[in-house]
Amino acid sequence: MLAGGSSFSNGHTRPRRAKGPSRDSRGAAHPSHRLLTSSPASTHDRISPPECTESDRAYFDSYAHVGIHEEMIKDHVRTETYRAAIMRHRDSIAGRVVMDVGSGTGILSIFCAFAGALRVYAVEASEIAAQAKEVVRANNLSEKVIVLHGRVEDIKIDEKVDIIISEWMGYMLLYECMLASVIYARDKWLKPGGLILPSHATLYMAPVTHSDRYCESVDFWRDVYGIDMSSMIPLAKQCAFEEPSVETITGENVLTWPYVVKFVDCYTVEAHELESITTNYQFSSMMRAPLHGFAFWFDVEFNGPPTSSSANGLQFLPGGSYSDPYINGSNNRTKRTKSDETIVLSTAPEDDPTHWQQTLLYFYDPIEVQQDQIIEGSITLSQSKENARFLNIHLEYSSGGRSFVKESVMR
Ligand code: SAH
Repeated sequence: MLAGGSSFSNGHTRPRRAKGPSRDSRGAAHPSHRLLTSSPASTHDRISPPECTESDRAYFDSYAHVGIHEEMIKDHVRTETYRAAIMRHRDSIAGRVVMDVGSGTGILSIFCAFAGALRVYAVEASEIAAQAKEVVRANNLSEKVIVLHGRVEDIKIDEKVDIIISEWMGYMLLYECMLASVIYARDKWLKPGGLILPSHATLYMAPVTHSDRYCESVDFWRDVYGIDMSSMIPLAKQCAFEEPSVETITGENVLTWPYVVKFVDCYTVEAHELESITTNYQFSSMMRAPLHGFAFWFDVEFNGPPTSSSANGLQFLPGGSYSDPYINGSNNRTKRTKSDETIVLSTAPEDDPTHWQQTLLYFYDPIEVQQDQIIEGSITLSQSKENARFLNIHLEYSSGGRSFVKESVMR
């Protein structure tokens, strides 16, 4: 636990992906940031950047630890997909200026340099920026990759950029709330028509059955070395299922096609849209099974910017293509269709596992559903007032004539 009582870097995989205790922030009240020459006056320059809160500092401290970067870089699905996307867009990157929002160790910035970028601003608020500088130097890229230690909201550079790249996705896509910083950078630093990688993100949910997990946490107490410990069950359920659980499931756990909770177009999304998201859902179970809860996962795509001719915003430049987000079969809120050209980083249960795994919201008690039985309700994801990087989850669900509400916090 960090000083200040934050839940970030609590010694297990969350905050998002931290492993082990956070490195001491060495008393730095605020990550320093390097000022370059003054930037041309723009509307944003006159707007003061959002305050860096105590919880933001705890969040950045969690990224000073090497374990979190090791875990991300060793996630080959993640890192290879980013590299492939950068190489796919190399014609747009070569000779151009890139900003890497939250560059960590600098890996994506270096990939962009390899793709021929003229200059890359590697912006990183946590202390890992010091190591990024060393990595850049050791690879003889100091002329090209400029590591700026500071929040993207605070740094100053003396030019606009052609490309913004960022790996901002948290558990359940929105945990961490880092997309707001990418939006800030986009509005302040991206040239009109510039490229954003990733360009689109989709958060999905689906009902799941997971008897093994339920047995392991609940039924286990029924017979412990011949002792009836069932009186432990209410506490065991509370401890196991009160908060969202990050774990890996497979396609076999999923009872229906997924439902789109939120589709994000990074070229146009506004920060206020992410503060609270509500959607109503309806599923029809494809089989008879105990329903244990819902799983959430996301994917991101790496498409080019909309062409100027695409008045409806649905056509994109080469390097990726785009189709209407919700068209696929009869249910118009199911999985996005994507062209074969599109590079997609998927965290779906049926795809190769990533360090994001899936996020599960378990019920305290399973519901027995029949084939074709309707499961419906609503989900609201909102930024927590306690800490804007946490996610409040309000889930309403009903099936077979019974209705429930579940409140939880991803912290
Ligand atoms: N790009 C790296 C690290 C991704 S993790 C990689 O792909 O391996 C996200 C990083 O963004 C963290 O290191 C975090 O400290 C940084 N970050 C988050 N918000 C930021 C902000 N507002 N300004 C600068 N860095 C930020």
